[in-house]
Amino acid sequence: MATKQPEADWNKRARDLTWDGRALIHGQRIATSKEIEIFSPVDGRYLYNSGLCDAVMIDRAVRSSRSAFERGNWSGISPQARASKLLRLAELIVRDHEELALRDTLEMGKPIGVAVGEVAGLAPVLCRYYAECADKIYGEVPGTDQGSIAFSLREPRGVVAAIAPWNYPLANAIIKSLPALAAGNCVVLKPSEMTPGSALRFGELALEAGLPDGVLNVVPGDGIETGASLVSHSDIDMVTFTGSTATGRAIMALASSRHIRPVMLECGGKSPQIVFADAPPTPDLAPHILGEILVNQGQLCVARSRLLVHRSRKEELLAKLASLARQHVVGDPLDMGARFGPLAGTTQRDRVMSYISSAQQAGAHLVAGGASDRHCGVLPTIFDHVADDMAVVKEEIFGPVLTVQTFDTVDDAVRLANSTRYGLAATVWTEQYPVIHAMVRRLKCGQVTVRSSIEAFEGPGFALAGEPQGDSGFGGETGLDALRNYTAVKGVILAGGR
Ligand code: NAD
Repeated sequence: MATKQPEADWNKRARDLTWDGRALIHGQRIATSKEIEIFSPVDGRYLYNSGLCDAVMIDRAVRSSRSAFERGNWSGISPQARASKLLRLAELIVRDHEELALRDTLEMGKPIGVAVGEVAGLAPVLCRYYAECADKIYGEVPGTDQGSIAFSLREPRGVVAAIAPWNYPLANAIIKSLPALAAGNCVVLKPSEMTPGSALRFGELALEAGLPDGVLNVVPGDGIETGASLVSHSDIDMVTFTGSTATGRAIMALASSRHIRPVMLECGGKSPQIVFADAPPTPDLAPHILGEILVNQGQLCVARSRLLVHRSRKEELLAKLASLARQHVVGDPLDMGARFGPLAGTTQRDRVMSYISSAQQAGAHLVAGGASDRHCGVLPTIFDHVADDMAVVKEEIFGPVLTVQTFDTVDDAVRLANSTRYGLAATVWTEQYPVIHAMVRRLKCGQVTVRSSIEAFEGPGFALAGEPQGDSGFGGETGLDALRNYTAVKGVILAGGR
């Protein structure tokens, strides 16, 4: 176990941290001819050069994974044997969680205290969940005549191209690769060009856990060259992608340019937080509502970025939200006490700020925030008096920006909730069963959370499946369905028994 170091050491540890941005292919670190300079959103410091895999390097990675798949020392072993190695991988993540967290903090600006919590808490839990699913994927045995037996087998698809975003660098590397690996596939993982550090270390930990060479290759690089070469490679059997809707659309076309193959898309969102008149008292409610937009500085696909509130509750709730939002500062990500940090880079900051100014120009009323702070930071921002057709209401901003709209009836609430092209998640605050039923049935999204009282909320962990709708994609990354997505069903008929 790594010894825990004093909190004050994070700046020193950041300076002492060594980086290796080379690709990880077939158990070896390999230098690339092109590289990407990585700068930290913490303070703009240069961190290191990451590799940029070109089409030749991608071909090498795919051929490595193909040979690993055909060799059968992963795809052909028992699910329990795969699970035991993936459980070992979870232990190694726990062992190295501080180092992995520091990489995520330095590359995307998430406060170190939050990153440590994610890597120590979320990452191993994800790993263990998927590992333990490995032997729970069954085929079916339909009824037949007496002379035959028929059943279906669920087989791994083969070589999976996995493309990840930067918002939860390590967690996304796990979510993209673990269910595929648990189901017996081999994976070529491409992390975001902004945050390849923890994914490359994750690939090394997988080797240490006993995954054979080539079962998990990690190919750093950009989208245009590395990502596009990977998803269009002719020897990939499936593509799984998490990222923006625009990229997802391009990937779907690229993936089918040469062959038909399955694609899973987990894309953007614009999820509503729907507050009915009987919702809990404002002092209890407001911190939850703010927390669900400010989590990860709003850089979360299921961030609840639209508050839809019953007219009778609006003024009081908005006043409380604004006063809470104004108490936030953009903290130093290397300060263990910071809970709100900068955005993931200057591009992301500029993008968020441009949505803020476009909303102001369009006549929205700025209630809190609206300014940038520190290097790459944006203060928690709330807009009132927004119109349905404003970009700040319709488009995913991926930053700490909340819009507020009012409704009078259940029909109004449903119309507003379903009025964007996305369909990831929604939260509903009410205790009235007829309203809960109406909302659960009528909301167009993959996951609905109903909170009739704050204390009553209990999470199902990763066992609950939910599939994005609309421009948020399709597939689903939790529950046993996550693993099923990475298998192909083969029907088998044993005939002629008489
Ligand atoms: P992005 O779409 O810009 O990039 C995602 C990944 O795709 C990166 O690795 C990038 O290099 C790669 N890529 C870009 N162009 C490509 C191409 N032509 N071919 C192949 N790969 C290509 O997204 P981002 O900015 O990294 O992440 C933020 C987005 O991710 C947000 O829209 C967010 O909602 C979404 N997201 C969704 C979920 C979910 O589960 N639905 C989870 C996390 C993030």
